[in-house]
Amino acid sequence: MANIGFIGLGNMGLPMALNLLKAGHTVQGFDLVADAVAKLAASGGSNAGSAAGAVDGAEVVVTMLPAGRHVRQVYEDAVIGRARKGALLIDSSTIDVDTARAVAADAEAAGLDMLDAPVSGGTAGAAAGTLTFMVGGSDAAFARAAPVLQAMGKTLVHAGPSGSGQAAKVCNNMMLAISMIGVSEAFVMAEKLGLDTRKLFDISSTATGQSWAMTSYCPVPGLVPAAPSNRDFKPGFTAAMMLKDLDLAQDAAESSKATTPLGAHAARLFRDYVESGSGDLDFSGIINMIRGS
Ligand code: NAD
Repeated sequence: MANIGFIGLGNMGLPMALNLLKAGHTVQGFDLVADAVAKLAASGGSNAGSAAGAVDGAEVVVTMLPAGRHVRQVYEDAVIGRARKGALLIDSSTIDVDTARAVAADAEAAGLDMLDAPVSGGTAGAAAGTLTFMVGGSDAAFARAAPVLQAMGKTLVHAGPSGSGQAAKVCNNMMLAISMIGVSEAFVMAEKLGLDTRKLFDISSTATGQSWAMTSYCPVPGLVPAAPSNRDFKPGFTAAMMLKDLDLAQDAAESSKATTPLGAHAARLFRDYVESGSGDLDFSGIINMIRGS
C-alpha cells in the first residue's frame, strides 16, 4: 500500500481519494476549499495543509485540478523539485495535450516518472470506483500506477507516451459532442416530419445511424430511462464541461494541424448553448437549442 498525496479534492477528486483510502492506501490531501479537505480527514485521510505538504514524503502524487494552468502552477510551486526521489506523479485532470507534455518533460528532467491519466465516467464513476483511465507515459510508469488506478477505476488503457491520455480524451469527447448534435438534429427533424420518435429510436438503434449518444443517452425523454433528458437535463456531464473539452480539442487540432470542421462547429454550438445560460445543464440539453425551445 502506498502513501499518496492528493491535490484537488473537488467533485471528482474527493470521491477518488476516498476510494484510495478504502483500498488501504494512506492519503494526505489538499484543496483550496477547506471543507473538501475536512471531508477527506473525516474519512481517515489527513489534512496536508498545503499542496507542498501533500507532496512531502508521498510515494505517489495524484492531481485532479480544473485546467492546464492549475496543473502547471501546482507542479511548478509544489511538485517538481519537492517530490521525493522515485515518486510517481499522476495527473488525472482533463487538460491540453501541450501542457501535459510540457509538465511531463519537466518531471522527467527532475528524474520523476509522470503519467497523464484523464478519466471518463463522471462523478458517479468516481464515487463507484468504476472510472476509465486513459493513460499517457512510459510502460514502467504505467505498470507502477496500475494498483493505484485500479482502486479508483475499472478500466485502464495505456494509450501511448506522454500526452496520449489527454489526446484520447479530447478525441473521444469531440466525437461524442458531434454525435450528440447529430442525434439531436435527427430527432427534432423527425418530430417536425410527424415521425414518432420511438419508431425512429427503434429503427436507428439497430441501423447504421446507431450511436452511444442515442442508445445510452438519448436527448429525447422517455426512450432511455437513465438519460438526463428524463430529469430536465440535470447533469450528468455539464454543457460547460463539454465546451471546455471542445476548446481543448480545437487547441489540439491547431497545434497538430488536424482539420476538424465539425469539431469547430460543435464548439461554436456548445458555446452558444452555454452562453444562453445553460452551462450547468447536461450537454444533451443542446437538443432544446436545436429545437428552438
Ligand atoms: P472541481 O472544480 O469540482 O474540482 C477541482 C478542485 O481543484 C476544486 O475543489 C478546487 O478548489 C481545486 N483546486 C484548484 N486549484 C487548486 C490548487 N492550486 N491547489 C489545490 N486545489 C486546487 O472539478 P471536477 O469536476 O472535480 O473536475 C476535475 C477535473 O476532472 C477537470 O479537469 C475536469 O474536466 C475533469 N473531469 C470531470 C468530470 C466530471 O464529470 N466532473 C468528468 C471527467 C473529467
